[in-house]
Amino acid sequence: MAAAVRSFAYLSNRNMSQPSPPPLKLLSIGANDGESAEPLGALAASPPLEPTEAFLGELQRDSDGLEKATPQEVLRWTVDRFAPRFTMATAFGPEGMTIIHMLAEIAPETPIFNLETGYQFAETLELRETIKKRYGIEVEFKYPETTVAEYEAANGGPVYKTDPNRCCFDRKLSVLHRAAKGWHAWASAIRRDQSPDRARAPIVGWDKKFQLVKVSPLANWTKKDVWSLITSENIPYNPLHDQGYPSVGCQPCTRAVMAGEDERAGRWAGFQKTECGLHSS
Ligand code: SF4
Repeated sequence: MAAAVRSFAYLSNRNMSQPSPPPLKLLSIGANDGESAEPLGALAASPPLEPTEAFLGELQRDSDGLEKATPQEVLRWTVDRFAPRFTMATAFGPEGMTIIHMLAEIAPETPIFNLETGYQFAETLELRETIKKRYGIEVEFKYPETTVAEYEAANGGPVYKTDPNRCCFDRKLSVLHRAAKGWHAWASAIRRDQSPDRARAPIVGWDKKFQLVKVSPLANWTKKDVWSLITSENIPYNPLHDQGYPSVGCQPCTRAVMAGEDERAGRWAGFQKTECGLHSS
């Protein structure tokens, strides 16, 4: 299929006193990761944005320049550069809550969404209401195509018991692929010290899996940094963290961890699985 090529002037609400980034050169629609004929992420945006060599080089320079920036400075840069085509997905973890708190001050209009698999803890769902009351921000739930009852009926029972990779794909990844369409950039709450996979995360880079710019304002933060801010600013957090759950995912796939265990040891215990696939490349 011949790729449609279009040029555009980059639109944003950036502060006009700041130097403008060079216009982004565009685009081959359909030139995604080769897994799908459908354009993904920023390739499906209007105007679309594609990872040309020049743009990737620019992101690398931006990322290097932001290495010493505070998370708030990274978020301000991101909003100036990519809003209104900037979004955030959150599972309401402590890092995500920290970014939501920062965005409430910097750009509360930023659209934020959660993947509501149907298997989340009641405590996690309640955080959405708490965020609404505290910040006036309505986190949007994005749902899979089937309810839990429909999904389990179609598969002869809970898929997470036998094939959690498939369950995560059906109820998280495929939903996220749809939700990522049409945005130029999104915020991620990952920290480099969380896992060897995350240790290589740039502050700003191209997310190959979802085909849009991924910004990780907390990449250089530690768990202690996150919890210090939560405590000093009284940021709401999932009460399960006080009950032995350092990392909270879906209820059937999360258990409390014991003293000395890795903070993600309670996720998919019993399976060779440590990530749902959202942040792995
Ligand atoms: S975390 Fe568990 S229940 Fe949730 S989508 Fe993945 S496998 Fe399914």
